[in-house]
Amino acid sequence: MSNGNISRRKLLERGIQLPLGGVLLAAAAAQTAAAADKVCVDMANMDGGQKSIRESLNYVEKSKDPKQTCGGCGFFEAKGDGCGNCMIFTGPANAMGHCDSWAAKG
Ligand code: SF4
Repeated sequence: MSNGNISRRKLLERGIQLPLGGVLLAAAAAQTAAAADKVCVDMANMDGGQKSIRESLNYVEKSKDPKQTCGGCGFFEAKGDGCGNCMIFTGPANAMGHCDSWAAKG
């Protein structure tokens, strides 16, 4: 029966949909924050050679320039979890990271 007012059924449906939407938005925001904070390279536990080359090329886990991240670098192979492999270092790199050898994907 429709008399211009929202039916009790519609109210109940919306009462369920709104919190569910909020939960999904919160989950998406948490996932984005987790990806941004992800640590892919543990410099403290790398061997001397790996650590040295990364230091010489100023590798960082989080790029200062969002337009120049490992994820947009031609030497990066993504793994799909926010981390990947750097062909220059032949080892892990963060999709949000950066080093002096950054080169745009061609
Ligand atoms: S070369 Fe540098 S910027 Fe490019 S993927 Fe490797 S670490 Fe990242």
